[in-house]
Amino acid sequence: MEEKIFIFGHKNPDTDSICSAMVKERFNRKLGYEKCFATRLGKVNKETQYVLDYLHLEAPEMIEKVEEGQEVILVDHNDFSQSVEGIENAKIIGVIDHHRIANFRTAEPLYYNAKPYGCTGTILYKEYQQRNLEISKEEAILMASSIISDTLLLKSPTTTKWDKQALEDLGKIGQIDIQQYGLEMLKAGTDLDDFTETELINLDAKNLEKDGKKFVIAQVNTVSIEDVLNRQQAIETAMEDKMQADNLSLFVFAITDILNSNSEIIVLGQNADEIIQKAFGKTLENHRAFLEGVVSRKKQLLPNIDKNI
Ligand code: MG
Ligand code: MG
Ligand code: MG
Repeated sequence: MEEKIFIFGHKNPDTDSICSAMVKERFNRKLGYEKCFATRLGKVNKETQYVLDYLHLEAPEMIEKVEEGQEVILVDHNDFSQSVEGIENAKIIGVIDHHRIANFRTAEPLYYNAKPYGCTGTILYKEYQQRNLEISKEEAILMASSIISDTLLLKSPTTTKWDKQALEDLGKIGQIDIQQYGLEMLKAGTDLDDFTETELINLDAKNLEKDGKKFVIAQVNTVSIEDVLNRQQAIETAMEDKMQADNLSLFVFAITDILNSNSEIIVLGQNADEIIQKAFGKTLENHRAFLEGVVSRKKQLLPNIDKNI
């Protein structure tokens, strides 16, 4: 077994999952926990790559599974279905997360910091404050990037006053213009051209389960919903393949316009029409619906779909 303590966010890592793992590693080391290593469970997306390039940092090492008894710290998730292979038998010593708690259990007590904030980065920022630890420019930019990503520059309804305050403070410490840096960063993540449709639907996909029914809500950010819809046919084929392979009862693919804060969803599956009608009061046309003001999977898409599936 590895002597190291692995820190990681969820599969299909987003900026919060990568940056929070990196920040938590730095934070723990400042407190003397030298064995902590940031890792990741998947490919770095283009938005996150922008952050790493900006800071001249390498991505954390990728891991695919953990051995029995391996010590781990989870950031930005707790649900085992979104975690590393082998998580059931790992020793989870800590969790820092801002999601609902589901499909999670441990054999032993642990350090668990859950807050209903918009971002794990905001919780980490609070932890620095509580410990009176100094925040480096690099750490500040990593946390700010997490917050910008998860809250879409504070425009998502998941945004809390704590996220706003944290981002303002971190912008100062990191000496960045939040609006300018944030928009550049978000735009870097919307370049979808060189992804295949199969890659597109897996870029930021959350595997979910309710009463034995498996479903997926995937999301991509764009500055042009139309550009993505031009590929609808091929996207649907990729969705169908995944549904069959993973035995899914529903697949929701959300295309989110980060500039205007709306989403178009493409939905396939059992009772898709009925579920979307009940969830959003919308009729699917050509498997699609436009959801005005909807940008958050966690606060808007997931709870409404979960209730009606
Ligand atoms: Mg995340
Ligand atoms: Mg997050
Ligand atoms: Mg996200």
